[in-house]
Amino acid sequence: MNNKIVILGAGITGLSAGINLGAEIFESQEIPGGLCASYCMSPDAKKHYSFSCGKSYRFESGGGHWIFGADKMIKDFINKFSITRTYLRNSAVYLPDFNLYVPFPLQNNLSYLPPPIKKDILREIRNPGHYKGIKTFEEWLEASFGNTLCKLFFSPFHDLYTAGLYKKIAPVYRYKTPFYKKLIIEGAGRKTPAAGYNASFIYPKEGLGELVRKLAGKCRIKFLKKAIKIDTSHKQVFFEDGTNVKYGKLISTLPLNKMINLTQCRIKEESLPYTSVLIVNIGAKRGERCPDYHWVYFPKSKAGFYRVGFYSNVDASFLPSSSRKKTERVSIYVEKAYCGGRRHNIDIKRICGKIVEELKSLRFITEVEVMDCNWVEVAYAWQYPDSNIKEEVIKVLKDNKIYQIGRYGRWRFQGIADSIREGLAT
Ligand SMILES: Cc1cc2nc3c(=O)[nH]c(=O)nc-3n(C[C@H](O)[C@H](O)[C@H](O)COP(=O)(O)OP(=O)(O)OC[C@H]3O[C@@H](n4cnc5c(N)ncnc54)[C@H](O)[C@@H]3O)c2cc1C
Repeated sequence: MNNKIVILGAGITGLSAGINLGAEIFESQEIPGGLCASYCMSPDAKKHYSFSCGKSYRFESGGGHWIFGADKMIKDFINKFSITRTYLRNSAVYLPDFNLYVPFPLQNNLSYLPPPIKKDILREIRNPGHYKGIKTFEEWLEASFGNTLCKLFFSPFHDLYTAGLYKKIAPVYRYKTPFYKKLIIEGAGRKTPAAGYNASFIYPKEGLGELVRKLAGKCRIKFLKKAIKIDTSHKQVFFEDGTNVKYGKLISTLPLNKMINLTQCRIKEESLPYTSVLIVNIGAKRGERCPDYHWVYFPKSKAGFYRVGFYSNVDASFLPSSSRKKTERVSIYVEKAYCGGRRHNIDIKRICGKIVEELKSLRFITEVEVMDCNWVEVAYAWQYPDSNIKEEVIKVLKDNKIYQIGRYGRWRFQGIADSIREGLAT
């Protein structure tokens, strides 16, 4: 009997599983880290993965990746490789119609809103638990927060963030959209304490990319091994370069919808909805109205983005070393979502142009020094109401000795800390 364990994917989940199990990891890219990989760029040089960045801006492949929800065990594990700092979240919602920044989460900070709007919202806020007959995320938002708050923020924001899917998918991530009536009422009268899953976060002093490199140093990884087919009857993974590997147990961190295709599992891929995200990383001269927030959520934007993050407002090490003590430059990430699987229709160059134009008109930036885009094909995994297809696929794969782990493997919302925890527990 073949007892060999093989791991697919050297993202943060695969690396943690690799450290735990000592098994070989097969990774399609030439570097480890997946969405947690970092890279550097200077105006006169190409993208590079060396972390003595000098004159370069530092960016992350998946946009700002701040480690939330880390308990003592995870912090101790990370600190063995790279010392971390703790940060208190400083984020806001921007309401362009009022030219107003309201601290996140908006629903707990109604005191910032014009009084007539606040009054309407308070009248419409429901009692928690009245969800009979609620099927979709849109219905859940409306049933929780009422019409005024949905019109002001939740509906247009989720339209951008889920690329319209919030009208069809099941309610999700209640902890991402906290709904505590008591806090909402309190926040209408005074400042309330920060709430939500990422009220504080940690981040490695040397950057996430360096942490990932150190984790990878403890693993056995074969790079440039893109799995293109899995023969479940002979327990064999075939790679794009013509090679293959036999397994007794396969630990996969690959997105569940991709595994359906690789294993030729007889389930329709469309039954697992998802959004893709275009990440636009920008290094620029700081504009006069560039805010100090770590990131800002947008319910409306001409270019269609839903969030602008400011790496260098979290940590100056994202800036070229000569600029770290000054406020003349800024390192930014912008996120724009698309309905999963629609990449072919997208003119990325045109969109980047529109994003830059809008950031300039908001006076967040003046001159762009470097810009780079990354496409995250499966960024947010959703489910249709009453669907148990995800559980079915995971079970079919498990029956074939394929164990799906991680955010995309198990098709759910999960951050870095939980991904490490899952890899270490595999
Ligand atoms: C826009 C965005 C922002 C986020 N922000 C945060 C944040 O601030 N904080 C936080 O904690 N989390 C954040 N997350 C979540 C975080 O990115 C994930 O929880 C984590 O990175 C998942 O790691 P993973 O290893 O499971 O997946 P991945 O990072 O996707 O790794 C999978 C690996 O598999 C490889 N692979 C794919 N296909 C194949 C193939 N066919 N053959 C071989 N290898 C393959 C990939 O190259 C990759 O290296 C964010 C996610 C997104 C999309």
